[in-house]
Amino acid sequence: MPQEHANIEFAEQLGVHLRAQFPLLLVDTVEEQRLVDKVAAATEPLSMRCLTWDSVSGFSSVHDSRSMAPATDPLDVLERLRGMSSNSVVVLKDFHTQWENPQVLRATRNYAQRRGEAGPTVIVVGAGATPPPELADSAVILEFPPPSRVELQAVLREVLEGRWVRRELDDGGMDRLIESGRGLTLEQARRVFTKAVVADGVLDHGDIRLVLEEKKAIIATSGALEYLEPDEAAEDVGGLDALKEWLRLRERGFSSSAREFGLPAPKGIALVGLPGTGKSLTAKTIGSLWGVPLLRLDIGAIYSSFMGESEKRARHALKLAETIAPCVVWIDELDKAISTGSNDNGTSTRVVGTLLTWMSEKTAPCFVVATANDISKLPPELLRRGRFDEVFFLDLPTESERREILAVHIRASGRNPDSFDLETVARHTDGLVGAELAQAVHDALIVAFDHNRELTTDDLLACGAQVVPLAVSQRERVASLRAWLAEGRAKPASREAAASPVPPQRVTGAW
Ligand code: ADP
Repeated sequence: MPQEHANIEFAEQLGVHLRAQFPLLLVDTVEEQRLVDKVAAATEPLSMRCLTWDSVSGFSSVHDSRSMAPATDPLDVLERLRGMSSNSVVVLKDFHTQWENPQVLRATRNYAQRRGEAGPTVIVVGAGATPPPELADSAVILEFPPPSRVELQAVLREVLEGRWVRRELDDGGMDRLIESGRGLTLEQARRVFTKAVVADGVLDHGDIRLVLEEKKAIIATSGALEYLEPDEAAEDVGGLDALKEWLRLRERGFSSSAREFGLPAPKGIALVGLPGTGKSLTAKTIGSLWGVPLLRLDIGAIYSSFMGESEKRARHALKLAETIAPCVVWIDELDKAISTGSNDNGTSTRVVGTLLTWMSEKTAPCFVVATANDISKLPPELLRRGRFDEVFFLDLPTESERREILAVHIRASGRNPDSFDLETVARHTDGLVGAELAQAVHDALIVAFDHNRELTTDDLLACGAQVVPLAVSQRERVASLRAWLAEGRAKPASREAAASPVPPQRVTGAW
């Protein structure tokens, strides 16, 4: 259970820093009360005093909630700290907002750099409590994990206490309900559990869904992650049989029976190929194939011009994804996101580093699907063996694959593919990728509709002939991708022998 570990680790880290009497710690979280509780728990065995401060109430003691000193001026606060015993900890709430004032920032820096002087350990807590560059070398940042299962369980118990609720969930169901609250703050969990209970006085499976809905809303506000409803099935993907078979074989890869059997959970795959070859489409089907949620990570959205902020956002998004596990995390257009950062003072390198560290250290069952059009833009360590379970190359579809792809799109329009001579259409559409075949079907439907008649094979042939295949203008890219495949660095996504060479430029409307 990653969250339990993370919470134990946090308590340990906190204990170490308190014992070592570090002057300044920073915790970036909205959960200040939960943090204060943890600090109070950590100070108890050390027989330290624990105080809090905020700009309205001044100092108060955690143990007897007595207001002690009315100091609300930040400079005054730092002055008073110097007079306090070293055997104490003071949690300053939202104090980072005061650093806009250069004098306060300077005074904080002086405090953080004190040597051998007395004074308590100060913990600055708040949403966005990160050190400005002036404090980067003297403040210690502690990463505060989301609530553990035990904490969520306690909240649910509190919510249920004193309420008359009919419990229709068995123990397994209760477990899943608590589990579904992972990734929420304690306050969010309390709110959603209360909503679940108060709405109808019954605790049932619908409430698990309710909690998941709440999570989706939180994911939406994270900016970099998008929760995609599973609406694509394996039947919507034409061709790519080797890739589909690989995925099908791992359908139960996340199940506990697979663990008992001694199988490690699948880690992830990279899908590489020209645009329109079905990489995104395949990524979207994995969620529904495996019956787990699909989260799309937009790397572009996590870039920030502030030093260190991009990695932090990446870590936050990945941690949030872990709370949804088991899930599929689809990293879309990895190459684009990385190449935009070639002139970014190393931000993209650090973001990739964060990603790689997460991929190798994650314990939660999050299956990563990274899609990329251009491998030349990717750092070689990203696709190194062992990083992903497999790297798949999606080539131009072969003739029989084109027939399948055409059939998928004809079926999607509510028609029977057998009513058309798709063999002929497939034969005449050499060089077109899936997206272009989909476009040809779409264009043919428009033509038929415009003529007030049913769609014909000739419409498909005519519209197929009008498409200028991307593969022709990207001939070199195709060749280099194929050479890369030949080096054994990737696996073909289709079993049939490599597709034909990129066809020469066709004369539009030749048939
Ligand atoms: P990529 O991610 O490789 O750039 P997409 O998966 O986004 O390409 O493909 C775009 C669209 O083209 C898909 O939504 C689908 O309509 C169609 N398409 C591409 N490949 C296939 C395929 N193998 N089978 C069916 N449709 C496909």
